[in-house]
Amino acid sequence: MADQREADGHAVKLCYLYTAVTELILAGELPKDTYGAAVDAVWENMVQKRMYVTGGIGSQAYAERFTKDYDLPSERGYLETCASVAVCMWAEKMLDYHQDAGYADVYEWELYNGVLAGWSLDGNTYHYANTLRYRKKITGYRQDCAHVEGQRQPWFACACCPSNLLRLIGNLARDCIRIRDGVVYVDLYMGAQVSAKAPDGRFDIRMETRYPYEGEVGFTVGTNRAEEVELALRIPAWCRHYAVRVNGESIPNQVRKGYARIRRRWKDGDFVHLSLVQEYRFLFADGHLWEQSGKAVLTKGPLVYCAEGTDNEELALLSYWTGTAFTESEKEMAGKTIPAVRCMGLRQTDSAELYRFAEPKTEPVELTAIPYFAWGNRGETDMEVWLPYRNTLPDMS
Ligand SMILES: [Zn+2]
Repeated sequence: MADQREADGHAVKLCYLYTAVTELILAGELPKDTYGAAVDAVWENMVQKRMYVTGGIGSQAYAERFTKDYDLPSERGYLETCASVAVCMWAEKMLDYHQDAGYADVYEWELYNGVLAGWSLDGNTYHYANTLRYRKKITGYRQDCAHVEGQRQPWFACACCPSNLLRLIGNLARDCIRIRDGVVYVDLYMGAQVSAKAPDGRFDIRMETRYPYEGEVGFTVGTNRAEEVELALRIPAWCRHYAVRVNGESIPNQVRKGYARIRRRWKDGDFVHLSLVQEYRFLFADGHLWEQSGKAVLTKGPLVYCAEGTDNEELALLSYWTGTAFTESEKEMAGKTIPAVRCMGLRQTDSAELYRFAEPKTEPVELTAIPYFAWGNRGETDMEVWLPYRNTLPDMS
């Protein structure tokens, strides 16, 4: 195993195994110089070449396994909820191993996309497999998509995913703020209250935010410590502009290993405001990705968006226009208000013949996208994460 360099085999079990190996290296039970190389190489291979844009892993239902680099089929991939949970578990150990915020970036992306898609908005039903494309009359018909459900299920004969997902949610209080070597690391932004006791006093943080829908986060410090404490706030890789203020004043800070660091003698009631500017941005696929090349995914902050047939007619005919403006809106589903976004795209207007020599005609059309985790909460419908993209609109004059 020390010789392994690729993410191979059963997706869930690989992450469980490497979670344990990383923990044993941290505990000094396995040698870092041999097993450490395997841990780093397998992680890099998984994240850089074998992970879906939602964070999902496991490209094939047969043996529920990884396949080869760049093989990430949208519709028939396995992407088990447990596998996404397992990536979070391993990421948490890698974070402790390297103290680098890049691992928390993966944890966060996985949490809000790969994991959360496995759970219905009303909390009562679950996805075992998290497909990136669902075609209402086709996916359920295909033998190689027999594992894909258009609707979340109340339970499974092999019910690993629901309990695994809930265990992870239960661990978020542990994983959002870590204290290591006297540094208080904030890795995940969410409503939370964490208390750290030290021989020379206490250091409490109350975190308030509407994250992931908004990037504003407030921290109220409660402390009686006389010594300086370093607060390290993760600046996610998706974030191009951020600001930190303490008690209303902009604070110069240094980003090291992905964390904006503020070291000072804190007073009881000090208030830190972190602003992480969230923008709608398209993600594009590397040319090696046979199925996704020439397509784009809409994102905002840590959320991957998708388009559903409920909001968009004939999804197969639609493309994104990368020059679009965005209009925020909301959708009511399963008793919840979920953010949605409208943008301009294109629709093919002359779809008739299966193949023909004339280039298809298109016209501008308004598209609606919702966060991927919320798909499939309004009845069975088409869904697509990757849409073709154009960087120009057709001349309609
Ligand atoms: Zn499972």
